[in-house]
Amino acid sequence: MKKLSYEELKKFYKNLDRALFLDAGYKGLAQHDGPLPIGFDQTISQPSLVLEMTRLLAPSKDSKVLEIGTGSGYQTALLAEFSAAVYSIERFAALSKKAQTRLAALGYENVFFKIDDGSQGWPEESPFDRIMVTAAAGQRPEVLIDQLAHGGKMLVPFGPPTVQELLLISKDRDGKISEESHGFVRFVEMVGRYGWD
Ligand code: SAH
Repeated sequence: MKKLSYEELKKFYKNLDRALFLDAGYKGLAQHDGPLPIGFDQTISQPSLVLEMTRLLAPSKDSKVLEIGTGSGYQTALLAEFSAAVYSIERFAALSKKAQTRLAALGYENVFFKIDDGSQGWPEESPFDRIMVTAAAGQRPEVLIDQLAHGGKMLVPFGPPTVQELLLISKDRDGKISEESHGFVRFVEMVGRYGWD
């Protein structure tokens, strides 16, 4: 399958209006390259980081992707555009419902939503070729690593609520795990059974 083209990703990112993923009071700040509130003490990520994380995860058109932390649905849209299907879990029903409406309005039919604790993944749909975690994991997410397909990759911010290391965890064809660090990021904490709670 054709690899993710950074040029195509960047073009799509530039044309995707971030205002669509913001509430009325924040639409005017859509161009700001920083996180913004989306309610429930949660934030939509900084756009340049969403672009970089999508580039690092590098889904392809045949990838089955799991996303933890639907939030506004902004990252979900980038994943939906460049993969076969996205399974996205959010713990706040109101956020998930808004994201569902937005992605439907954009015409995506390859996104499946679940309102639940995503720290346990989506075992019924596993294995996944790619896993994108957009909330800070306080523990090594073994449950999610188990749901990664051989040859799969997972991106996860790992560490305390103040600052996390962005880890790219890969499972090779034989199931061997390796990881590489991609610098430091700051995400809201993942709550739930394997989160920070
Ligand atoms: N990718 C999102 C950013 C989301 S912020 C965007 O671009 O808008 C992180 C999200 O993770 C929040 O919406 C938060 O509610 C959610 N979250 C935190 N812990 C979770 C868990 N255990 N399961 C599912 N969602 C979780």
